[in-house]
Amino acid sequence: MARIILVQGDITEQAVDAVVNAANSSLLGGGGVDGAIHRRGGPEILEECRALRASRYGRGLATGQAVATTAGRLPARWVIHTVGPVWSAEQDRSEQLASCYRESLRVADELGARTVAFPAVSTGVYGWPLDDGARIALRTVRDAVAGRVEEVRFVLFDDRAYGVFEAGLAAG
Ligand code: ADP
Repeated sequence: MARIILVQGDITEQAVDAVVNAANSSLLGGGGVDGAIHRRGGPEILEECRALRASRYGRGLATGQAVATTAGRLPARWVIHTVGPVWSAEQDRSEQLASCYRESLRVADELGARTVAFPAVSTGVYGWPLDDGARIALRTVRDAVAGRVEEVRFVLFDDRAYGVFEAGLAAG
């Protein structure tokens, strides 16, 4: 199992092999983490995303799936784009959120990434409650198939998110 560490900060500043992007299915950019990654990583990332849309992902990337591109100018080798589910009070979409973490780790392992940074997928614009998002993230990474990934770093933007992940990690 990969070592899990928590960092408070900006995911675009992480020197890791792979940075996971909380993308949307268009793969063509958005706000939050997605906007920050494209801003800081430069146009090369968007170019590869456009190429993916023009080839294998003509209809976009489905919720819960993951795909890699270059990391452009970020201090990382790859960006792994994953599409989190939008929170719903009526429908349990937890399995789709878990799938984001699992699939991203599978892609990371395929690439040979040893260190991977994740944001708290779906807990921003997509409205997933932070406590539950943290619980799913931590459990899924803990239970993920052991591969070559040695370190999973959750990068939490603010105090509150950091605190919630810290409590979740301590609770085991
Ligand atoms: P989603 O659309 O999947 O909800 P967001 O990007 O809106 O994705 O938010 C996901 C989480 O990432 C939120 O908790 C948000 O506060 C956090 N976040 C936003 N920008 C950054 C950043 N630059 N680095 C790390 N986390 C970030």
